[in-house]
Amino acid sequence: MKGFILVISGPSGAGKSTLLKKLFKEFNDELYFSISSTTRKPREGEIHSKHYYFISKDEFEQGIKEDYFLEWAKVHENYYGTSLKNTIDALENGKIVIFDIDVQGFSIVKKKLADKIVSVFITTKNKEELKQRLIKRNTDTINALQKRLENASEEMKWIENYDYLIINDDLEDSYEKLRTILKAQKIKVQNQNLNQFQINWSKGD
Ligand code: ADP
Ligand code: 5GP
Repeated sequence: MKGFILVISGPSGAGKSTLLKKLFKEFNDELYFSISSTTRKPREGEIHSKHYYFISKDEFEQGIKEDYFLEWAKVHENYYGTSLKNTIDALENGKIVIFDIDVQGFSIVKKKLADKIVSVFITTKNKEELKQRLIKRNTDTINALQKRLENASEEMKWIENYDYLIINDDLEDSYEKLRTILKAQKIKVQNQNLNQFQINWSKGD
């Protein structure tokens, strides 16, 4: 498997999707976004098979039984999970696979695919800023927003398990950091097609 996985985690509202959108604009052909399945209801503008596979609780639980998921977790009272087959196929095609998953999901994939992963935790400079972004985004009820904020404090305890931390204050500055991480990961020896390079190198190609 030639590809690798870029895991992005962090509190809901920190700016993960915003930064990923920019990454896709720049590196589109090299990336594969892992579309998660979820039992959460779609937000306005969210499209089935693009942002998530929006499925029922029964379907999700069937998927768990049939080992469809590489990892899954319950976040804010909804199920979220990553397809095992799609991930393996994308890695075999040499893609950089993007996971936008929570800290529980990360701890599972880290155990299963440690040598294939680079991980980035993205957050705001403080909790108040996160609250303001969630209010401004206006996609959650007051209850859901409260739950996301409580969950955020729990997620912050996991930062030290990640390779990189981006405090997403200035968007351009944060994006520069994210693309630097991606570019560095691409030139790691373990992520390059060494055999072919070594053969060509001897032949003088
Ligand atoms: P996440 O995917 O982590 O839940 P989003 O990407 O949806 O977060 O961002 C949440 C809100 O914060 C959006 O309204 C987005 O436009 C805004 N946002 C993202 N990054 C920044 C930033 N650096 N400064 C100010 N607002 C931001
Ligand atoms: P949201 O409801 O805001 O789209 O996502 C809520 C949280 O679920 C985010 O922290 C997001 O990273 C996480 N999440 C999304 N997909 C998955 C997944 O497949 N697995 C896990 N474990 N978490 C996910």
